[in-house]
Amino acid sequence: MIVEGAIVDLDGPRSGYVRFRGAEVVEVGKLGTESAHGSARKVHGIVVPPPVNGHTHLGDAVATREPPPGPLAPLVRPPDGWKFRLLAAASTADKIAAMALALDRMRREGTAATIDFREEGTEGVRLLRQASRRSGIRVVALGRPLQRPVVPSELAEVLKEADGIGLSSALEEPPESRTTVARACRAAHKLFGLHASENVREDPGTYLDPRPDLLVHLSEATEEDLRAVATSGATVAVCPRSNALFGKRPDLALLAKLSVPTILGTDNAMFHAPSIWRELEFAYVAARLGGRPVPPGFLVKAACLEPWKLLGEPEVARIQPGGSVRPIVVRLPADDPEYQLVSRTTEHLIVRPGTGSPRRRPG
Ligand SMILES: [Zn+2]
Repeated sequence: MIVEGAIVDLDGPRSGYVRFRGAEVVEVGKLGTESAHGSARKVHGIVVPPPVNGHTHLGDAVATREPPPGPLAPLVRPPDGWKFRLLAAASTADKIAAMALALDRMRREGTAATIDFREEGTEGVRLLRQASRRSGIRVVALGRPLQRPVVPSELAEVLKEADGIGLSSALEEPPESRTTVARACRAAHKLFGLHASENVREDPGTYLDPRPDLLVHLSEATEEDLRAVATSGATVAVCPRSNALFGKRPDLALLAKLSVPTILGTDNAMFHAPSIWRELEFAYVAARLGGRPVPPGFLVKAACLEPWKLLGEPEVARIQPGGSVRPIVVRLPADDPEYQLVSRTTEHLIVRPGTGSPRRRPG
């Protein structure tokens, strides 16, 4: 299959073609220069590295009803907020089934990986692993030990199962807990993340010490706060739909201006479908609605390029022959491809080379 149109990757958006053999990229070049094989099927579209959902709580997918109105805190506060009571009341089988369904949806939309904050201790991570076994999605599970103060043996047990630790926030976790967790993550070469300045502004001196790999939200951070975050080198996961549900909005324009490494997540699966494409469109529109427009290229980078750097696989974010994680093709016009991807992508336009043929005839 040859895809003619545009390529969007770490080298920027450009016109070009990509030839696939099965799912594998075998040739990339400028339009009109392909080593012509008359028989190859031609598709017009945009070739882009597969998106990563930068922040999920897939366990929440077990809750399927409209959340009660009101502020966020009582809904998601550990250990006994609305969400934690729901999780406690749900059966293991129901939780696994709900997570598996959410992962299946992500796979259909071309998402290659998700970075999930999994509550419920070691068992919580095990359930997620079970749910993802046949999902075709790489699950980066950031677990959370249950006991406070943090007990080293439990922390070690969670870290053995998980790819790191994802804490609630510095408001709920004292410095001792954060330091113990961060040290253990460093020693194990695993990720340490936490939520920050989601509902109220927090002092960067708290959430940046010890320095996390990943900060989630920062919807209430000031410009000065974001400058401190930029200097720290931490990656920021933003979740615009989840914030909007509670009247908040991350300043994407400022994150872009300050070149903060930013990824995009769909957050609690009880609030929103884990669709990175819906998140992208909303992020773009909400930024314009708020009078703080964000460049579409920044959003595509946040969904499809930046996460691969955080995961230590920057080569995935470049369309080139070979490679273990395969790009996706979106059948959209090649003009202004980043804007097309952000504003127009839906599941039925996505072709995953090597996994079946596009539904429309080439044209
Ligand atoms: Zn979260």
